[in-house]
Amino acid sequence: MNKKLVIGNWKENPSSVDDAKRIAGKTRAAAGLLERVQAVVCPPFPFIPVAVPRKPSANYAVGAQSVSREEGGAHTGQVSAAMLRSLGLGFVIVGHSEERAAGDTDGAVSAKASRALEAGLTAVLCVGEQSRDESGSHFDFVRNEIKASLAGIPAEKARHIVLAYEPIWAIGAKEPMAPADIHEMSIFVKKAFADVFGAEVAMKTKVLYGGAVNFRNAAEIVTTGGVDGLLVGRESVNLPGFIELLKSVDKIQ
Ligand code: PEP
Repeated sequence: MNKKLVIGNWKENPSSVDDAKRIAGKTRAAAGLLERVQAVVCPPFPFIPVAVPRKPSANYAVGAQSVSREEGGAHTGQVSAAMLRSLGLGFVIVGHSEERAAGDTDGAVSAKASRALEAGLTAVLCVGEQSRDESGSHFDFVRNEIKASLAGIPAEKARHIVLAYEPIWAIGAKEPMAPADIHEMSIFVKKAFADVFGAEVAMKTKVLYGGAVNFRNAAEIVTTGGVDGLLVGRESVNLPGFIELLKSVDKIQ
């Protein structure tokens, strides 16, 4: 079965390891009861070990929020893809708008994605426009961002990429993008990916939506928006809400 993918980006939360253990444990328990959804939690680096289960856990995996663009060595403060893999991780987010705003260029994003893919991780590549206007310049922006963020990635690694379309104006906002517009953008993003790696691999590539998703709007975003899953910020550390969100997506036939 082609399961929906729901990734929780905890960002710089929670503030204690005990809370991280609790959120991860309850998310894992809830994920074990799902049939059509795989849940992934992406805690801050120091909390990764308490989120990784000792044994493989149904519908539950752990990812990281970022990764070094280097392979290892003298890079103070960096965490390599190999380190993440050795902790049992399957996923890493690259190109999140908050990292781009802090200085990551498309070149840095493609280097991070490359390191992740070389280490055997799935790279969750975030793209999205800052704003939209009537001229439709956001289409060009997103197309160019996808191309530049994938530069240098070999075609044989393309099937280990997940695309997360996150309009920056919807991140942290009150309301998500309208589901009909999400539908349009999910098709557009897939087409831009197909322009780089071909239609065959693009057809199998998951496109997620992120930006102000919560338990109330998640199911409609997935169904009307036609996406393969969600990238969730705030609601992923709000336990009751995140569990309801997972259940609501799991009900989609
Ligand atoms: C995000 O930062 O990726 C995100 C989607 O945040 P939020 O769900 O809080 O809007």
